[in-house]
Amino acid sequence: MEKVVVLTGAGISAESGISTFRDSNGLWEQYPVEEVASIDGWHRNPQLVQSFYNERRKKMMEASPNEGHRQLVRLEQYYDVSIITQNVDNLHERAGSKNIIHLHGELTKACSERNSNYVVDIDGWEIKHGTLAPDGSLLRPFIVWFGEAVPMIEPAIDLCEQADYFVVVGTSLNVYPAAGLINYVPPAAKCYLVDPKEVHVARKITTVAEKAGTGLKKVVDELIALANAEKE
Ligand code: NAD
Repeated sequence: MEKVVVLTGAGISAESGISTFRDSNGLWEQYPVEEVASIDGWHRNPQLVQSFYNERRKKMMEASPNEGHRQLVRLEQYYDVSIITQNVDNLHERAGSKNIIHLHGELTKACSERNSNYVVDIDGWEIKHGTLAPDGSLLRPFIVWFGEAVPMIEPAIDLCEQADYFVVVGTSLNVYPAAGLINYVPPAAKCYLVDPKEVHVARKITTVAEKAGTGLKKVVDELIALANAEKE
C-alpha cells in the first residue's frame, strides 16, 4: 500500500466548533499566548494556565469529529495513512483514525512538572489546581508550550520521508518545527493543501481553497480514484 501522510492543524477541528488560534475570534484574541502557552506563563500563574486548559478540555469533550476527520478515516481502506497533528484535541482518535502523532501534546493527558515523561491520563475535564503527580511535583497539562522541545518531531520527520502523498489541512504553517515538515517529503510525492485562506508553501502543491469537510472530500475522492486505477 502506498503511504499518505497528513499534517493537520487547528482548522480541521474548526467545523467541530473548536476555535483556531489565529483566525478572528481565535483563542489568542481572548488570551495572551505568552500567559497561557509558555513555560514562563505557567510559572507566573499556574492556576490561570490550568483553568485555560480545563476549559479547552471541556469544549473538546462537548465537540464531535466532523466530516474532515471522517474523510481521513475513509482513506485507510486504500492507503497506509499516518496523521501528524498539531492539535491537542482527540477528534482524530474519536473519528477512528489509527496512526496519529500529536506534535504538541494531548489535552486528555497530564504530566509531572518536573518530568514530562511522567504522563497520566486525565479522568474527566478538570485537573484541579494543586493536584500532584506521582513523583510529588505539580501536575501540569501535557502540552508542548512555546519554547519547549518537540520530542515527537523525529518520528514525524521519519514518516514525511516515506510519504508517497502528503496532505496539509487547516494550518497556517506559522508554528515551527511543524511547518518545516514538508521539506522532508520526497520531491516525487504529490502534495495537497486544504485551507480556505491562502497559506504559503515553498513547493509545488495542489491547493483546495475550501473548508476541511468539503475540501478533504475532494482530495480523498481523488486519492481513492488513483488507488483504484493502480489496481486495474
Ligand atoms: P492556526 O490557528 O495558526 O491556523 C489555522 C488554519 O486553519 C488557518 O490557516 C485557517 O485559514 C484554517 N482554517 C480555518 N477554518 C478552517 C476550516 N473550516 N477548514 C480548514 N481550514 C480552516 O493553527 P495551527 O497552524 O494549527 O497552529 C496553531 C497552534 O495552536 C497549533 O500548534 C495547535 O497546537 C494549537 N491549537 C490547537 C487546537 C486544537 O487542538 N483543536 C485549537 C487551537 C490551537
